[in-house]
Amino acid sequence: MANRKEKTFRFIIVGGGIAGVTCVEQLSSQIPSADVALITASPHIKTVTNYRQVSKTLEEFDVEEQPSSVLEEKFPNLTVIHSAVKSLHTRSHSLETTDGRVFGYEKLCICGGGRPKLLTQENPYVLGIRDTDSAQELQKRLSKAKRIVVVGNGGIALELVYEVEGCEVIWAVKDKAIGNTFFDAGAAQFLIPSLEADKPEKDAPCKRPRYTTEEPAPGGSHTFTADRNARRQGSSSTEAGSALGPDWHEGIVLQGSEQGTRRVSLEYQCEVEKIFTSEELLNSPPQTLGHENVGSWPVYIKLTNGKTFGCDFVVSATGVVPNTEPFLHGNNFALAEDGGLQVDDHMMTSEPDVYAAGDVCTACWEHSPMWQQMRLWTQARQMGWYAGRCMAAQVLSEPIELDFCFELFSHITKFFNYKVVLLGKFNGQGLGSDHELLVRCTKGLEYVKVVLSGGRMVGAVLIGETDLEETFENLILNEMDLTPYGEELLNPNIDIEDYFD
Ligand code: FAD
Repeated sequence: MANRKEKTFRFIIVGGGIAGVTCVEQLSSQIPSADVALITASPHIKTVTNYRQVSKTLEEFDVEEQPSSVLEEKFPNLTVIHSAVKSLHTRSHSLETTDGRVFGYEKLCICGGGRPKLLTQENPYVLGIRDTDSAQELQKRLSKAKRIVVVGNGGIALELVYEVEGCEVIWAVKDKAIGNTFFDAGAAQFLIPSLEADKPEKDAPCKRPRYTTEEPAPGGSHTFTADRNARRQGSSSTEAGSALGPDWHEGIVLQGSEQGTRRVSLEYQCEVEKIFTSEELLNSPPQTLGHENVGSWPVYIKLTNGKTFGCDFVVSATGVVPNTEPFLHGNNFALAEDGGLQVDDHMMTSEPDVYAAGDVCTACWEHSPMWQQMRLWTQARQMGWYAGRCMAAQVLSEPIELDFCFELFSHITKFFNYKVVLLGKFNGQGLGSDHELLVRCTKGLEYVKVVLSGGRMVGAVLIGETDLEETFENLILNEMDLTPYGEELLNPNIDIEDYFD
């Protein structure tokens, strides 16, 4: 293998998602003379644009899908290789791509992302959403659907059930409340009425890129327009595309076959027991079904609460698994419990000269008490950026310390058209009973929850235009004893910003 090497690069980065591209940008800017290769399975790369530091740790940005030539024009020593990595040989510092080429590296960073954790493999009636292609497939199938079942309780399920119209949605969640990954039951209660109300008219232009499908271009490949600048690029179908990101559903009409708005029924505290085709159902004993009438559907799903529903298809939105498979064989990577490549506080895996960043890795350093890993867009950017810095620092023999962004977990997003800010241990993660909550809620307007431990603020959930994020971020980072303020902390008549100035 070693002598088949076509070329040896100083740095190879695998994956054209946010983590990989940010790592490339960082390395190429820090050491412009180094030859860098980006090997990616997808035809386009994802780039961060309009980056905005909202506060010390909160950040917002847009994501654009662009042809890789954009990156090559910017960095003359960068080579983009469009192929998937088939195997990695850490001993000979080389990797082989599916088109049979072998490349050597001095330092490697794996940013291969994740893949949907599907309820079942190879069932044509079970869909996962990961990339543009799968989102388009969902849209196509939905246009003919009368009823779908959505399984999962994370961000993707939350957005999907809110966006789908003209089709009945049965939403099966394993928890007592919706959005358990992000909220507690109180926040869920605050959001539930939005599922019953009509969606507000979208008058403001979308801040983020949109992806709209168009008719397949001659020759079979399809085209999609990305972003508000209506930049259009050809795109062939990919085997392992980059994960979609914020606002993935913007511009994709999630409209079922019927008229009318949203119809969502919730099934709490249940998981999937079995998925049947209509033939399997006909051949099974009658007691297989719960109280729901059979009807005639292409697929049926039996839940652990005893109910069975027929539907046009099932959306499996039960999270992602790190996409480590192509890199493991013959190597000695330490894997975390969630299947990610373990990385230390320099983003290094257990194999020499191999780094990893983004959804594919698991942060295994001793975390700051206010930070946890979540496989999110922002963390993919932060990890890619920091991995690039660490790789450069090693080559330049410079010391480097864990970046400040890993001090405090922070995330801004939108659910059910509300701005949502999550800070620190926003759900009391890992605190056991050693915490108390302060909550302020104005129906339809805002939901503010503060998590206190030992009198200090350790986390917060802010839904709506609360304008509290910066103050709360400071209070968490300063570890100030807030006992004297008690419940006044959330008194809406006090301008808290002035209070702590
Ligand atoms: P990816 O973006 O998945 O990129 C992986 C790259 O590796 C791809 O380019 C792929 O082609 C390439 N690759 C894979 N295998 C190989 C191989 N063998 N050889 C070569 N290349 C390979 N996060 C948020 O913060 N907010 C949201 O609102 C949000 N919404 C989401 C909605 C959906 C539908 C999904 C699926 C995810 C969402 N996320 C969201 C999560 C976010 O998209 C991911 O955390 C983030 O994109 C991870 O970036 P990454 O660079 O690690 O991986």
